[in-house]
Amino acid sequence: MKLATKLIHAGAEPDPSTGAIMTPIYQTSTYVQSAPGKNKGYEYARSQNPTRKALEDALAVIENGKHALAFSSGVAATDAVIKLLQSGDEVIAGNDMYGGTYRLFTKVFEKFGIKFHYIDMSDANNITKTINANTKLIWAETPTNPLMNICDIATIAAIAKKSKLLMVVDNTFASPYLQNPLDLGADIVMHSVTKFIGGHSDVIQGCLVMNSSELREQLYFIQKSCGAVPGPMDCFLVLRGIKTLHVRMERHCENGKKIAHWLRNYSKVGKVFWPGFEDHPNHIIAKKQMRDFGSMLSFTLKDDSIENAMKVLSSTKIFSLAESLGGVESLINHPASMTHASIPREERIKNGLSESLIRLSVGIEDADDLIEDLKQAIG
Ligand SMILES: *Cc1c(COP(=O)(O)O)cnc(C)c1O
Repeated sequence: MKLATKLIHAGAEPDPSTGAIMTPIYQTSTYVQSAPGKNKGYEYARSQNPTRKALEDALAVIENGKHALAFSSGVAATDAVIKLLQSGDEVIAGNDMYGGTYRLFTKVFEKFGIKFHYIDMSDANNITKTINANTKLIWAETPTNPLMNICDIATIAAIAKKSKLLMVVDNTFASPYLQNPLDLGADIVMHSVTKFIGGHSDVIQGCLVMNSSELREQLYFIQKSCGAVPGPMDCFLVLRGIKTLHVRMERHCENGKKIAHWLRNYSKVGKVFWPGFEDHPNHIIAKKQMRDFGSMLSFTLKDDSIENAMKVLSSTKIFSLAESLGGVESLINHPASMTHASIPREERIKNGLSESLIRLSVGIEDADDLIEDLKQAIG
């Protein structure tokens, strides 16, 4: 079955009691048993909820996986993955990634004796060089937030397999429409469902998708033991969002492309970071593993001062100045002071995240209106 059909029908069964075509919001904490232990597979809603189950079934199908687990946020999903590890274990992660993931790794998990190595993953050789006897997991984000670096999922997955490491891909920026890491050999896909999958800036949620039943059991145990589960209303909203993912993504990609090219040709703009440019350092890999190049991009101004960037950030009228991404509306963001403020300044600059960098999440409005807006804001 093709993706467009899967997106509409995955996980959706008519409600058994009424035939309702939309999965009901099972707003309940518990389920009545006819005798102790005698139940319909539902005991307590931290462990099971029918609305969540419908969503998890849908997430598995659209990411080409066998199993999915939904969490109360993207970072809760990441948290569950790292809880597979033990003190003394080591993780290899990228040096350009979502600030909240970096914060979780360094401020929460290092304290429990897990060690993280942050390296440039756009060259897979750097990974081979970093692997040692304690390495257990590779955490890859591609495209990266906010510099749009690309790493080669299939090559890294092959390295992980050879060294018996778990390979996890944060697929938030691409969404299941653009890229399916399990098909390329990854063990677990993580999403901040808050972003493109939800798509309407009205819900915080995360998920993990995998093929291995053993991994599913371990992660389900962590999900119910640690309890970061999403509520049924949020699951319903995401089920609704999923149905239009392909239509939204087509327009996101079209608008992203137009704006990336416009920015690049605009005299007052410095560098534009977008994997669709043929001279992007890993454009060939992006082309190989992604269906299209998405609507996330970042740029600097020719006059590379923080003051100038601040002026642009507070002058747009259609682009809203806000954290987050992947919704139908366009957002503008200043990574250094907003999404990536939790990464120390020296660390950010060393990795190429300049103080004047501006990130855009291009929405699905009219592209010409968006360009006009950027033009008046940049001046
Ligand atoms: C937003 C985001 C996260 C965290 O997800 P939340 O839903 O905000 O907890 C993780 N990775 C990436 C790439 C993100 O953009």
